Parts: sequence; C-alpha cells; structure tokens
Amino acid sequence: MEKLLNFINGEYSEPQSGQYLDNFDPSTGGVYSKVADSDSLDMILAIQSANKAFEKWKSTPVEKRAEILYKIADLIDANADALAFAESQDQGKPVALAKKVDIPRAALNFRFFAGAILHHTEMATDKDGKLLNYTLRQPLGVAGLISPWNLPLYLLTWKIAPALACGNTAVCKPSEFTSKTASLLGAIFNEAGLPPGVCNIVLGRGETVGQTLVSHPGVPLISFTGGTATGEKILKSTASHFKKVSLELGGKNATIVLKDADLKKTIPGVIQASFMNQGEVCLCGEKILVQEEIYDEFLEKFVAATKELQVGDPQDPKTFMGPLVSEPHYLKVKSLIDLARKDKGKIIYGGDRPEGLPEKLKNGYFLNPTIITDISNCSELHQTEVFGPVVTVAPFKYNHDAAKWANNSPYGLSASIWTENLSKAHKLAAGLDVGTVWINTWLNRDLRVPFGGFKASGQGREGGSHSIDFYTELKTVSIAL
Ligand code: NAD
Repeated sequence: MEKLLNFINGEYSEPQSGQYLDNFDPSTGGVYSKVADSDSLDMILAIQSANKAFEKWKSTPVEKRAEILYKIADLIDANADALAFAESQDQGKPVALAKKVDIPRAALNFRFFAGAILHHTEMATDKDGKLLNYTLRQPLGVAGLISPWNLPLYLLTWKIAPALACGNTAVCKPSEFTSKTASLLGAIFNEAGLPPGVCNIVLGRGETVGQTLVSHPGVPLISFTGGTATGEKILKSTASHFKKVSLELGGKNATIVLKDADLKKTIPGVIQASFMNQGEVCLCGEKILVQEEIYDEFLEKFVAATKELQVGDPQDPKTFMGPLVSEPHYLKVKSLIDLARKDKGKIIYGGDRPEGLPEKLKNGYFLNPTIITDISNCSELHQTEVFGPVVTVAPFKYNHDAAKWANNSPYGLSASIWTENLSKAHKLAAGLDVGTVWINTWLNRDLRVPFGGFKASGQGREGGSHSIDFYTELKTVSIAL
C-alpha cells in the first residue's frame, strides 16, 4: 500500500518511529494509503533543516525567488489532473470542483505572491528636510504553516507562497486526514529548483507534530487555519515565545436574502454558499435569513434547486456533492441534524443518506443536502458550526433584525447579502461583525483583499499586502540630515 512520507531537506523520508496512520478514501470508507505518523524527532529535523536553509534563501535575489515560485505554479498547472484526482480521492470533494477551484487556486497562490514580491515597494518620509525615514522589511526565519482538511492544497499553498516569497523558510503540517496533495508538492518543489530545506512538509497528528511545531522556540511565526478550539490552544502555546500568529478559524455565517433579491441569480448563489464542497467550506452560509415577503417563494425555489443536486461518486464529473471527509466528521454532522430534530426543527429536505448509491460507495460518508426550518430560537444549532451540508432557513421582518440574527454568534467570519437594492446592502454590510461581506456573490476571492475573521473566527488578516505584512518584520530607519 502507498505510504505518504515526510519531505525534509529536499528528500522524502520515512518517519523516525516507522509508524503510520491509516488514510481513508471517504467515498468507500476503505483504507487506501498510509500517512507518516511523525513525532517530535521528525519535526525537529524539519525545523533544523529550514533553519539551516534560511540565511541563503533570505539573501537569494527576489527575482530568483519569484522565478522559482512561478515555476512551482507552472508545475501545479502541468500536474492539475493528477492533483485534482488525488484531492478528490483524499478529501471526498468532487473532482470537477478540485479541477475548477482547488488546483487552479493553488497555482495562483504561487503566481500571485511571486508577482507581489517583485512589485513590492516600501515608503520613505521626509521631516522638514532634517530627518529622512524609510522602512525595511525582513523575513522572520522558519514559518510554521498548519492547514485543515477541507481545502487541503488551496489553503496550504496560501501560506507557503507568501512565506517563501518574503524570504522565510517553512515547515508545513497539513491535516492528517488529507495529506496526499501536500505530499505531492515535494517533488514539484524539487523539479522547480527550490533549494533543499526551504520548504519542509511533516505529516502526522496535530497533538504530536503540530504541537511541537507551535511550541518550538526556533519557529517565530505560525500561520494556522483550522478550528477555533485548536486556535485557542495554539495561542496559549505560542504566547510565552511572543510568536507572530495568524489564526483563520471557524465560522457560523449568515446568508441574508432581502425582499428585492433577484431570485433567478440568488438561488444558484445560495445553493453554492450552502452546499459547495459538502458544506465543508469555513465560509459556507449555514444560517439563511429571508425577508418575510419572499420567504415562501424562496423556500420553494431553494428546495427545488437542492433536489436537483447530484450527490455521489466524487470522481464522476457531474457530481455536485461527494462524501464528508471522515467517519468522525460524518457522525458529528449527523448528531447536529439530530439536535435540530430535538429542537423542533422541521427537516424539509435531506437529513439522511442518498439512496441508490452504487455498491462500492455503500460504506462512504455520504449525506444529502439538508434544509431545516422552524427551529427554536434558542437552539444550540444557531451557534454551532456544522461544517457540513446543513442549513437552517428562517424569516425576518426588518433589515436590522437580520443583522441582529447574523451577529448573534460567537463567530465573525463572513456573510452574504442578496438584493437588487445596493443602498440597503451597503448599510447592512456596515452593521455586520464579520471579516468579509459578499453582496450578490459568494466565495468570490480577489487575492489582494484582506481575509480573516472577527471574534472567535480568528485574528490577523492575510491576503495581498496584509500577507507581506504578516510574513515580514517591519523596521524603521531614521537618518538625521
Ligand atoms: P483542526 O483545528 O482540527 O485541525 C487543523 C490543523 O491543526 C490540522 O493540521 C491539525 O492536525 C492541526 N492541529 C490540531 N491540533 C493541533 C495542536 N494542538 N497544535 C498544532 N496543530 C494542531 O481543524 P480541521 O477539523 O482540520 O478543520 C476544520 C475547521 O477549520 C473548521 O472549524 C473550519 O471552519 C476551519 N477553517 C477555517 C478557515 C478560515 O479561513 N477561517 C478555512 C478553512 C477551515
């Protein structure tokens, strides 16, 4: 059976302990490969290797660094089909989605930050002709980059690209549930001419290797995307070293449909925002709020469109939703549907496994898209992130009620507003306590804009110049003239 290995100092290596984790194909529930179950020793080797490579990489001319990043992007494009297949098999996402979104975005991450670093300029100020100030940016050293399982390559490369572009070296810790595409990156790095040690990838569990990475004194910067509870642990583990930390965490996002929304455009958008990638996108809108005048019409059309979604084999190009990522996650999502039942919610669509799946998929972690209405106002489901294909729909009367409902959450990641009245949309957007508001669109990303969350959805912003800010230290030099 295939073994997914660590990539340390430019070479694939077995974990020192010789231990491996089972890696499941979520569409069959069967083990299809083994993932290195690394321990602190592997992680320390990777950190040492990144540390050794740092001096040379930071003084590599920016044009050369950018050239290598551009090559990595080209190689991701050249291997797009194989990477999309691997991502789909490993994560359960439809291969069509991986081809359209995940893999192109991974290439774009490298291309974008190669360009960004080439074009980056710093400021200088003059004070009365007597004092000249300018700023210098310097990389910090070894960046610890930790990613979750929902958008494996997309999110890991969102961290690697700016970290390396700015002259840091890196140690990556992808999710133990989805290590496959990260493990394929090593060969791409070597082919692109990335020097050994500049980017290392250590596979294994969060509580072991992840914990070593965040608490190691030789790693001054941590970029983490994952759950809020893990983010809190990481903040505590990094506090005593005053590490630079960026946290992109969970969400409980609202989709707000105003009475003047154009439902022809809105329904397809809300379908994506609800169920794309089986609802396993931190930005999915799990709470749909619809103005009461159009509530019945919206619901009827939304349910009709949901019924059309094909759930099944992620390798079938027509599939819209594949299986959930793992058995524990599948059980968690099912338990939240049960909670909705207990809280008097009406499951008006879904809530169960799809029927008629082929024999080979009968043990896969499949769930129908699920729509819940009439759930009690005080249900825990309004506060808990499902991270699966489950939405609640509720009516509201006034826009300020919608804002109140959207903000009634420990999280503050994103929201979407659907309306033809932009004046109302602007006012509503300004009142939402979230990092990103989309109007008449969803998950429409421009890599130049800041990305991050309010409240328990995280701290810090990445994206464009904000990433350059995060992955460098800024120094002011003042000269008396
Ligand atoms: P998770 O927090 O369980 O794991 C994320 C990563 O952290 C994994 O690589 C894991 O191995 C590692 N990890 C776990 N414990 C650790 C520790 N003590 N020290 C260091 N690393 C540790 O999250 P998940 O289940 O993989 O992902 C789902 C969560 O991610 C959801 O809450 C989702 O909303 C969130 N997410 C947020 C964003 C965003 O941009 N805000 C994007 C995607 C996913």
